[in-house]
Amino acid sequence: MIRLFDTMTRELRGLSPLDGEVFRFYCCGPTVYGPAHIGNFRTFVLQDVFRRTLELSGIKAYHVRNLTDVDDKTIRNSEAAGKSLKEFTDFWRDQFHEDCNKLNNLMPHLEPSAVEHIPHQIKMIEELVGKGNAYRSDDGSVYYKVSSFEDYGRLSRLDQRELRDGASGVVTDDEYEKDSVADFALWKGRREEDGDNYWESPWGQGRPGWHLECSAMCREYLGDTFDLHSGGVDLVFPHHENEIAQSEACTGCEMAEHWFHLTHLLVDGGKMSKSAGNFYTLNHVIEAGFSSAELRYVLISAHYRQSLNFVAKDKDGIENFPALSAARQALQRLAKFERSMQKVIGVDGDNGFEEAKKVGNLGTFAEALNALREDLNTPDALGRVFTAVKGLKAAAMTPEEAAVELAGFRVVMHALGIELPQEETSHVEIPTKITEKAHARWEAKQAKEWDEADRLREELAAAGWEVKDTKEGFEICPKN
Ligand code: AMP
Ligand code: ZN
Repeated sequence: MIRLFDTMTRELRGLSPLDGEVFRFYCCGPTVYGPAHIGNFRTFVLQDVFRRTLELSGIKAYHVRNLTDVDDKTIRNSEAAGKSLKEFTDFWRDQFHEDCNKLNNLMPHLEPSAVEHIPHQIKMIEELVGKGNAYRSDDGSVYYKVSSFEDYGRLSRLDQRELRDGASGVVTDDEYEKDSVADFALWKGRREEDGDNYWESPWGQGRPGWHLECSAMCREYLGDTFDLHSGGVDLVFPHHENEIAQSEACTGCEMAEHWFHLTHLLVDGGKMSKSAGNFYTLNHVIEAGFSSAELRYVLISAHYRQSLNFVAKDKDGIENFPALSAARQALQRLAKFERSMQKVIGVDGDNGFEEAKKVGNLGTFAEALNALREDLNTPDALGRVFTAVKGLKAAAMTPEEAAVELAGFRVVMHALGIELPQEETSHVEIPTKITEKAHARWEAKQAKEWDEADRLREELAAAGWEVKDTKEGFEICPKN
């Protein structure tokens, strides 16, 4: 049994496919106008662990995640870059896929894009206008009439009155002409700044609003009611509230059985933003000398319902990423355990992994998988893995016992999506930035600039690398 907190009912609820066969879930995907940041990846990585946990529990999953490839930001930035919207968003989509791949995220089963579903969105608007839930304004836009949907605010527990009066302080969309402050755009009439990015519709030229794409794609691929809908906590209001209003007004059915929201990642205690200089991507992490597996480990190290504070800089403002260094050590410890079990067994290969995945005999590691089944408790699962690893002494084990434990261990690593370094650490690839820094240190040393040499050595150490002087020059190795 898998249980997960549901934002709608505010309680832990058991999960099982509504149709008794396939668990169908939708995750709001990235807006492809620039690189996804490590906060976005916290959400996507934990959704991936969720899917893996379902599958390892014998539940067939169908995972749909959209691409937002038309909105204000994609249009504005593609124009600034002098590229067509398609060329621009295709580029960022490919970058996103590359990062997902490095982070060992499984591809969703389906990845529909907003631009490819404009007819579906228009059809839904027509239905909403026909039912009296939407109206056209003088500027050629179509708005959803929030007061027409009695249940509006159910997910976020916002009062309709507060919304109508603007007393909540939340203005959902203030750029266009509409009857009430809470109403939101389903269709945005063409404006000059949209350039060539407009489509024909019964209300004139324009483009769809952001909230509508998810409603249209959910309905197309998952039906009127599906098992679970997910996104970062910032999407509860207004995005998911609006999705519910659109979909449920059309279908008359409850949109999703379960709502799964993930709390944000903070950097040095604050929101990540370019202007604050604390905006990190996977590339930043790799250039600083860490691996994508180390980042994944950090991202799953806190429970999804708690914010994760990613410490990047120390008190002097120097970037040293202590959690990534700790992750490196943790992964090396786990890799060492894996090798020790392998040695007892003596033969390479699958060693019962596939069998353990199917049958579920995970030895001492069963508890770790159970922790994931109980509200996707990734820190608890990691804690249980380390307890098991500590307690299992290779010297006292038979090959058969080691085979059961190794298979169980690998199943849990698979659930977490952790790929361990296969080789001894001395074979680890050294990032260019680290080699350059080590050279700079060597040169500073030759020039007898001792303070500079020490400073660089410390920076390397903070990034998890050690330089050792040798007869021929120097050697770089990961810090143990
Ligand atoms: P976006 O590309 O901005 O539409 O966001 C893609 C996903 O990342 C959504 O599910 C967001 O809720 C989520 N997200 C955005 N910022 C953060 C953050 N700092 N931490 C965790 N998830 C985030
Ligand atoms: Zn969405």
